[in-house]
Order: sequence, then C-alpha cells, then structure tokens
Amino acid sequence: MSKITFGEIRRRNQRTSFFLFLILFILMLLSLIQNPWYKAPLEWYFISVLGVIGAFILPAKFGRHYCGQYCPTSFIADGINPVNKAGSILKSRHLRKVFVALFAAIFIITFSPWNMALPASMTQTYWASVFTKFWILWIICPFIIAFPLILILAFWKGGRTWCNYICPWGAIGVALGSPQLLVTAKCTSCKACTKVCPQPEVLVGAIGHQGGQIDKNCLTCLKCVDVCPVQAIEWIK
Ligand code: SF4
Ligand code: SF4
Ligand code: SF4
Repeated sequence: MSKITFGEIRRRNQRTSFFLFLILFILMLLSLIQNPWYKAPLEWYFISVLGVIGAFILPAKFGRHYCGQYCPTSFIADGINPVNKAGSILKSRHLRKVFVALFAAIFIITFSPWNMALPASMTQTYWASVFTKFWILWIICPFIIAFPLILILAFWKGGRTWCNYICPWGAIGVALGSPQLLVTAKCTSCKACTKVCPQPEVLVGAIGHQGGQIDKNCLTCLKCVDVCPVQAIEWIK
C-alpha cells in the first residue's frame, strides 16, 4: 500500500477549507440582499472568529501552518504555477509593510468605538454615516483588490507570490510565530527541497552538513519534506 504524502494531506485540508469558506461566503451574500430564506448573518461572526484565530492565535504556537495547510486562498494559489519568479522588489518584503499598515488602518477605523457604537443622535450626521460605511472596505479589500491581485501575481510570478511577500495576514503570522522546521545534519545538500519550495530563500541558511532552522517565513506546506531523499527535515520540538 502506497504511503500518503504530506502533499495529499495538504490538498485535502485546503480543499475542505475552501469549500467551507465558499458555503459561508454564499450565506454572507444572501444575508446582504433582501430574501425570504436567509436573514441571520451569523457567518459574519464565524468568519471573523476564524480569521482572528488563524491570524493571531495559531501563529504563536504553529507559525504559518494556517497558510500552508488551511487558508482557503491557498487551495487556489497552490494549484497555480509553483515556480517562484519574484524579483528583488518583492523579495525585499517592503511592499508587505505597506499592506500591513493599510490593513491596520482599516482595522482601527472600522473597529474603533466611534464606528462600532455611535449614539443614535450621531448616526444622522454626515461623518457618522461615512465612518459606518467603512464596513464596505471589508468587502472591497479582499474581494475586489486582493483576490484579483493574488491571481495576477500567481500567474505572473508564481502561485504563492502574494502569500510569500505581500499578504498582511501572513505577515502577522511571521511576526507572531517562530521557526517550525529544521534541517538536520543528515542533509546532503542535494537541493531537491529548493526546487519545490514556493519560497526557496527560507532554506538557504538551513541546508548543508551542519543543518539549521528553516526561516520563519516558511509556509510549512511540507513540500520539502515529501522530496527530501534522506528525511533530513524535521519539526522543531
Ligand atoms: S499568506 Fe495570506 S493568503 Fe496566503 S495562505 Fe496565508 S493568510 Fe492565506
Ligand atoms: S521550506 Fe518546506 S515547508 Fe517551508 S515553504 Fe519551503 S517547501 Fe514549504
Ligand atoms: S532535500 Fe533534504 S538532503 Fe537535499 S538539500 Fe534539502 S534537506 Fe538537504
């Protein structure tokens, strides 16, 4: 009987998460329009809670495991041209800082007390109505800006380009997380892992006869583990 690879497990996890997200997304759309069948927008809270767990709580213990295995976006990104063709601008990761700052600004504005709990007397004012409309940014940013950008970058520079160098959610995972994998001294420097890794630079300081920790930007997709001929890559305990 053939052994199940980490790649098969990853694709199964990603597929399940993608279709769950799709169901929640359709329910969200239904709750936004007048309809006789569905009114309670509970999935808005459910998606928010999942997002907070994925971005802030899991990384502290598991690094970017969410990015490698469970993010619904990763199901699409991992299925597109895996070869990393990112240039120096993307690899500098400065663009990611800009997106983190934008994400933080939108988060603070929409969840600030003057947007969340306006007294009834204020909701009639012009500025109050502008602030409450900032909720629309949570539709525009992911669905109208981020998703098209993810697809363009995936076909142009490699499937995981957004995840590796731009996504603010992923950046939070890197900031809060710690390295998850290490290369042991069994490594023969064959570099098979760098050929399948969506972000080969994370392996540079780890492979070789001394071994070492893989950089915490690693997505923990475990593609490298599947191809290593001497099983040199292990979890950090
Ligand atoms: S980097 Fe962002 S889009 Fe990519 S898998 Fe992680 S959370 Fe999802
Ligand atoms: S080092 Fe391995 S687990 Fe990390 S991103 Fe590269 S292939 Fe995936
Ligand atoms: S595939 Fe394994 S042996 Fe080859 S360089 Fe990578 S960690 Fe080392």
